[in-house]
Amino acid sequence: MTSIVAFLIPMILFAILFNLPILVVILKRKYLTIPGIVVSSGLGMFFFIVQPFFWLVLIIFFFSSTLLSKMRIKDKSNVVLDFEKGSTTRDAMQVIANGLVPLIFVCGYAIFEVLPNLLASNDVTHNPSNAFFIGVFTAFAVHNSDTWATEIGILSKRSPRLITNLTKIVAPGTSGGVTIDGFLASLLGATLISIVYSLATLLLSSSHLLSFEFIIIIVSMVLGGFLGSIIDSFEGATIQGIYYCNYCNKETESHPHHPRCGKETKHHRGYMQINNDFVNLSSAFLVSSMVFLIGLLLN
Ligand SMILES: [Zn+2]
Repeated sequence: MTSIVAFLIPMILFAILFNLPILVVILKRKYLTIPGIVVSSGLGMFFFIVQPFFWLVLIIFFFSSTLLSKMRIKDKSNVVLDFEKGSTTRDAMQVIANGLVPLIFVCGYAIFEVLPNLLASNDVTHNPSNAFFIGVFTAFAVHNSDTWATEIGILSKRSPRLITNLTKIVAPGTSGGVTIDGFLASLLGATLISIVYSLATLLLSSSHLLSFEFIIIIVSMVLGGFLGSIIDSFEGATIQGIYYCNYCNKETESHPHHPRCGKETKHHRGYMQINNDFVNLSSAFLVSSMVFLIGLLLN
């Protein structure tokens, strides 16, 4: 018990020290709504205490996605108004949709790696090839890949095509619409997360770096992130609830009102129960569970 307290006190202090300046930036720039800030601060503190690299990957995902969504906002504002929330300020539900799957794996890592370590040896040695550790990074690889694909895809000069019927050209921002630029962005987004994973391996367990297992993990992570964003687009084209604004003659994710004009929207396709947050969560869960199993097999 004393070993747990001795571990927790400095970790909590460091977690506060590292999270505080970030909180100030988020508040100042209004990147999140107040409930969004509460949920993300909780996640940030917990991730840091379990393993600071989980916190680092969360921060990199959050800031890269936020900055991309603010990038050339004028070009995008037209399209953003058709998205579900109609704004680039993320709310608590979006934080949960992107944080829940990583959180499940962080909890698994805390219970099955950190805690037994503390109880047995009064010390924590971290293990990046632990399947839960891999699960955390893969979940972020999917979320990062998907966000990058969306944010960069809607800036694409090429017209998006529907993922379920590539001969059909759709309006930018249409759920299920894909572009080559979006695919490349998706691969880059997942690659960035795998670089952070490599850094974690280098610093925590350098003998694993460039081992056979390590290479399998990196490849699974990048391809998994990419696959996750494909699943996301596929769900967007098939099961996600999509609405139609008769006033603007446009498809939208928003219901009951269209942020662009404030008029009511009507159900157009998909299931009304399935929104964008569910789509994000389910694709991350599916892919990171698969890569988690690969991690188990490698151990
Ligand atoms: Zn409208």
